[in-house]
Amino acid sequence: MGQIVFDNHYVRLPERFYSPQDPVPVREPGSIRLNLPLAEDLGIDTQWLASEAGTAMLAGNYLPEGAEPIATAYAGHQFGGFNPQLGDGRAVLLGEIRARNGRRFDLQLKGSGPTPYSRGGDGRSPLGPVLREYILCEAMHRLDVPTTRALAAVTSGERVMRESVLPGAVLARVASSHIRIGTFQYFAARKDTEALHLLTDHVIARHYPELEDSENRIAALLGAVVARQAQLIAKWQMLGFIHGVMNTDNVLISGETIDYGPCAFMDEFNPEQVYSSIDHGGRYAYRNQPGIAHWNLSCLANSLIPILHNDQEHAIALAQSALDRFPDLFLEANSLGAARKLGLQAIEAGDVPLVDDLWRLMAEQRLDFTLTFRRLADLADETNRTGTVAELLEFPDALQPWLDRWRERAAREPTSAADRQAVMYAANPVFIPRNHLVEAAIAAATDNNDFAIFHQLAELLENPTSYAPELRHFASPPRPEEIVQQTFCGT
Ligand code: AMP
Ligand code: MG
Repeated sequence: MGQIVFDNHYVRLPERFYSPQDPVPVREPGSIRLNLPLAEDLGIDTQWLASEAGTAMLAGNYLPEGAEPIATAYAGHQFGGFNPQLGDGRAVLLGEIRARNGRRFDLQLKGSGPTPYSRGGDGRSPLGPVLREYILCEAMHRLDVPTTRALAAVTSGERVMRESVLPGAVLARVASSHIRIGTFQYFAARKDTEALHLLTDHVIARHYPELEDSENRIAALLGAVVARQAQLIAKWQMLGFIHGVMNTDNVLISGETIDYGPCAFMDEFNPEQVYSSIDHGGRYAYRNQPGIAHWNLSCLANSLIPILHNDQEHAIALAQSALDRFPDLFLEANSLGAARKLGLQAIEAGDVPLVDDLWRLMAEQRLDFTLTFRRLADLADETNRTGTVAELLEFPDALQPWLDRWRERAAREPTSAADRQAVMYAANPVFIPRNHLVEAAIAAATDNNDFAIFHQLAELLENPTSYAPELRHFASPPRPEEIVQQTFCGT
């Protein structure tokens, strides 16, 4: 048996879906970090993966048996403007792995060299973005957010030229699939309805098999993707996560978060917050994320109209009714998320002002997003004084009347204070990959070849909700001089 058991399906689609493309070997592969639990889940021989041969594979220098490497084609709306021809410009899909739970996962190398879609780019990645994606996506996974995963990060022993000369690296990314809204747009833009049908069949079989027998499978698929996006964006909002580049090529049909370029978790709550250096108009600001997701889904709907129904008017009506579900689905998911964060079983009609006032006060008082909820969890059961974050966040007087209202409301719950606190501790992480910590990890690795902070952060974020005071450094907001104002795509 091979070291990895591949079961490739996407490559069986016609050749206009992709270009065969081997990764371009790097000079000197060096292992940075391996995600052994994930490798186990994928049924990969972990001893082999940790060996020199495994590192060579992760760098693109050795093709495992059964791999059929391709760069996939896709299009996308970038900041609202349509680009009919994007595609994997710095990544290759080695193949699909059948995991131990029976599900299939893409294994993709990112930073693996130029492809036909590179448009003049070098197809490589600097070390910084690789470390960033590793930390961020694995943190999201532990925070219970659907996401692509990091199987490994390796150095390439090469330098890449950006604004400065930087060490190069490759990320091994695992995803339920890399099929994007932009993949549908690619074929819709070419009026290739045959490909749209093939892609739809592939997606339903792979991600939504329960829809196979629906009356209109394509309308059902659109509805299901709408629902998964609504759930996903609600999770982002509840964590103060700002994706930063919600282009339609960065929206996966599976409902997983992808593209950890300029993304960031907020420190102080500010609904207008933007970090990405290229997001001048604030299109992808925190508060705009639900609306942008809805807009992105309308691009998917448009792409599907040619195959939704023979009668175009009927097709448009089907698309519209699927899209119209988004606001309610999002609000429902958001409300459930907020309830858990506040230790309530549900947000009832009378609770809406309570929740709205908290968001308003957090913004007015510039409270730290993460610590606010964590401190509320401490206060859910004041008889328990162990492991609180009181030393990290003291609520201002302006919040006291709100706290009294919340205490009163919580007291009407059928649950005990201890139970409410347990739910709140699980729903409100104390550790998030704060920008200044991620930047410190990247700087030490890039400037001094020192990966200690990176490993420390990666380990800590495996348990984002369990606090110990000796870890306070990692739970603390940045000092003024540490605040990260901008993030970069880092391609
Ligand atoms: P992304 O920033 O990942 O959303 O990428 C947008 C598009 O630019 C995709 O088609 C990428 O493959 C391509 N791209 C990004 N960085 C590079 C690079 N260094 N070399 C070639 N293509 C790139
Ligand atoms: Mg992308």
